[in-house]
Amino acid sequence: MTFTTRFAPSPTGPLHLGHAYSAMLAHDLARAAGGRFLLRIEDIDQTRARPAWEAQIYDDLAWLGLTWEQPVMRQSDRQTTYDLALDELWARGLLYPCTCTRADIAAAASAPQEGAPLLGPDGLIYPGTCRPTVAPTDARPRNLALRLDMAKACAILPETLRFHEDSCGEEVSFTATDLTRDVGDIVLARRDMGTSYHLSVVLDDAAQGITDVVRGKDLFDATRIHVVLQMLFDAPRPRYHHHRLIRDAAGKRLAKRNDARAISLYRSEGATPQDIRAKVGL
Ligand code: GLU
Ligand code: ZN
Repeated sequence: MTFTTRFAPSPTGPLHLGHAYSAMLAHDLARAAGGRFLLRIEDIDQTRARPAWEAQIYDDLAWLGLTWEQPVMRQSDRQTTYDLALDELWARGLLYPCTCTRADIAAAASAPQEGAPLLGPDGLIYPGTCRPTVAPTDARPRNLALRLDMAKACAILPETLRFHEDSCGEEVSFTATDLTRDVGDIVLARRDMGTSYHLSVVLDDAAQGITDVVRGKDLFDATRIHVVLQMLFDAPRPRYHHHRLIRDAAGKRLAKRNDARAISLYRSEGATPQDIRAKVGL
């Protein structure tokens, strides 16, 4: 299978050095393998996405010397696909509506059982307040958050799950029991979006034929969730390359708000793409 990878930025702020590293690394790996480099705009959060940031992404990536295939996938065009997938999980009894607020969850989770972790890759581990004993049989609600019943999902999957981690050349394995305890019932459809990062990224990687996901180590823990969804949808299982994170001088990872590290700022100060490569160690 042709090596196919992608860069999947959210157009919610300027690309900074960390994004440039991720995009250039993915692009370099694709070119070295004679493979494909795709772009995907992750704009499901329409309250934060801005066309101007999307335009800036294209401009910065082109300036860095990257080329990508057209058309670019945009998540905001794909709600029908997300809805069909949610309908399927709903029909299989794997989802349930949740009406808890953040404060409800924090209050319920603040009295955890001894030894149980409080935080998972998706924030507070959901204490199960709205989990029904019998799966709902009515139509899937459109205006409520929907959670995955992780224990139920795991019951139909093998006890040991794994993915290939290319940065260490190893298989990473984990168990269904780990997931139920350390990840819990994650939200797959947010009330305000009708989807979620996890659902969209898995369906989009499958739709784009991604064989190799190149992204930051900050998403390493989320990959377990993605493997579960791939298995539930019988989707192909890409290899993963979780790369090191680019940190600022104080050793903190860069965030969108670190405008001081924005590629556009380096550009305006006269840096060359080669300077950017040198800064991130490529
Ligand atoms: N859109 C995500 C971000 O900007 C990246 C998702 C991914 O690579 O899986 O952090
Ligand atoms: Zn709830």
